[in-house]
Amino acid sequence: MTRTERVERMEQRSLFDAPLESDFGDKARRQAAASSEADAVPRSLFPEDCVVVAVPEKSSGGTSEPANQKPGVAEASKGSRWESVHDLGELRALVTACRECPLREGAKGVVFGEGDPRARVMFVGEGPGQTEDETGRPFVGRAGQLLDLMLRVAGFERKQVFIANIVKCRPPGNRLPLPHEVEACLPNLEAQIRIIDPRIIVLLGALSSQTLLDPGIRVTRDRGKWFEKDGRSYLVTFHPAAVLRDEAGKKRLLLEDFKSLQAKWEQVKRESPKGSERLG
Ligand code: URA
Repeated sequence: MTRTERVERMEQRSLFDAPLESDFGDKARRQAAASSEADAVPRSLFPEDCVVVAVPEKSSGGTSEPANQKPGVAEASKGSRWESVHDLGELRALVTACRECPLREGAKGVVFGEGDPRARVMFVGEGPGQTEDETGRPFVGRAGQLLDLMLRVAGFERKQVFIANIVKCRPPGNRLPLPHEVEACLPNLEAQIRIIDPRIIVLLGALSSQTLLDPGIRVTRDRGKWFEKDGRSYLVTFHPAAVLRDEAGKKRLLLEDFKSLQAKWEQVKRESPKGSERLG
């Protein structure tokens, strides 16, 4: 084992050994997450027949099958605001001024997302926590530290990918975003995806999986699976905060999923070197 590998192992161990985070782990939020993993997004937001076909994957990053061919909620938001925006800087200015839902009022600021504006790999979480709200940056609290670690496991640097959330403003008390808040904010994320045009989207947790892919997704059942939709590959995995709350049950699986991401990225590069030249 090289020195770098040893250091990474140690970092990994100490992060997982540390006490549970406070920025994402208040009791109410944990209960909400546990009880609503399946129900975070009401079915009424989605077409009735929006069914995902998934293929179990053993960390190979290889095969995947088409997700639903019907429009999901992201497509449903197409044609709404920001349709004519093609520049991420311009979009940021518009999103920063957004007052479409009450979340902005209770938040210090807008957490737009960050990373390479032309990233081929994008990560989508739920919404900013306290540290993110204070800094204006996504995933910088304890969950973010774990995400950084996993990025390294998969061979990425943070600046090479783009990290965003379903909602851009912190829900009060770190609760899950409510359905109307998700609906109001979705055009922002949809525009980010359209402009950045990533090849791979990693869905961190139930809310992003159910919102961008299918409300029937259950992370405990579907994590590690790859889905194809609209020319992009989607990986469903745990939210890092959920892993911090259940290291024994989820840590190994999260590592497996990020190894699968690495393999998938290698495959994408092999298959379309031109399309992947923006990253590595
Ligand atoms: N959790 C999220 O879902 N997003 C963040 O930005 C931070 C924590």
